[in-house]
Amino acid sequence: MTPYLLLTPGPLTTTDSVKAAMQHDYSTWDDDYNAITQRLRAGLLRLGQAGSDTYASILLQGSGTYAVEATLQTAIPRTGASVLVGVNGAYGRRISEMLDYLEIPHVVVSGDETAPLALADLLAAAQAHPELTHFAMIHCETTTGVLNPIETIVPAMHERGLITIVDAMSSFAGIPIATEMLGIDYLISSANKCLQGVPGFGFVLAKRTTIAQTKGNARSLSLDLYEQLACMEAFNGKWRFTSPTHVVLAAAQALDELIAEGGVAARYHRYRECQHLLATGMQELGFDRIVAPADQSPIITSFAYPTPDFDFPAFYNALKARGFVIYPGKVAALPSFRIGNIGDLNTTDIQALLAAIQVVQQTLTVSA
Ligand SMILES: *Cc1c(COP(=O)(O)O)cnc(C)c1O
Repeated sequence: MTPYLLLTPGPLTTTDSVKAAMQHDYSTWDDDYNAITQRLRAGLLRLGQAGSDTYASILLQGSGTYAVEATLQTAIPRTGASVLVGVNGAYGRRISEMLDYLEIPHVVVSGDETAPLALADLLAAAQAHPELTHFAMIHCETTTGVLNPIETIVPAMHERGLITIVDAMSSFAGIPIATEMLGIDYLISSANKCLQGVPGFGFVLAKRTTIAQTKGNARSLSLDLYEQLACMEAFNGKWRFTSPTHVVLAAAQALDELIAEGGVAARYHRYRECQHLLATGMQELGFDRIVAPADQSPIITSFAYPTPDFDFPAFYNALKARGFVIYPGKVAALPSFRIGNIGDLNTTDIQALLAAIQVVQQTLTVSA
């Protein structure tokens, strides 16, 4: 059907059955459709290990960034608030940029982009800034594929009285996350990453007692997460404005397929196997990783250019012609490219990719 497999961190390769699920036109007012939304909302809470009495699941139109921005400008009061942001990549930086737009005071703790955020640095900043009220970080920094340790950082920030916001866009449903046990106040992800749906909406798992206190905070009507939740709760899953109906059908199908696969634990296992095969195979072909294996997520891997004159566009186009689309790098100081392994891919696909890379490498070397 599609001319290539996506080895990218979302949109990603989806199953034919997920794509087929979109062949229906539902009314946004219909009970059947709203029941699908409700089933999806409940399923997302289970994936995030969050109880439905303590957490609420909120779906929001748009890409993942819209859900992050909606969370920030709903969760953070208009006065008296200050946010600590852990930054070790482009997505952490994007949160800081959003806070600039919103004119919300914030403190940035920056770390090396090829290493996880350090708890000690964050604790030191929290100590130095008693005015802080909120904390935001990225789980898997898709910029490099570094996995940040939410298991130690979130409880430590929580203990200091900060409301915690985690962008788990590229990890949710692919890496187990104990949202409730960790005490995460807001966990954010989207339909087209490890859930393996198609793009069109993001979602937030919010602690009920926390979001209950955010009425009137929002600086934007359409990105008001509090009101979005209020509508979904009052009208049995009804979205506040026109919802991406076909995308929701695809996500509901994707959720069923995730459960059939064996849940998040099974998907995590598949991703790890694929990432391990990819990283070791690439190493044998002469491509070094830029992130240490212990800090590497099973989602996406960054590889340094093997030589200073490496022709990435030629490499990319040759692989695309062979049915594989990869991803450019995003670390300014380090020429690199990325290969994602999330989506409907298995080790056979990774083996085929490695075989194609070997051929492409020889062709490019000969023609150079
Ligand atoms: C993909 C992603 C986002 C959101 O990106 P969109 O292009 O808006 O969907 C945010 N944070 C992280 C960590 C991501 O991987």
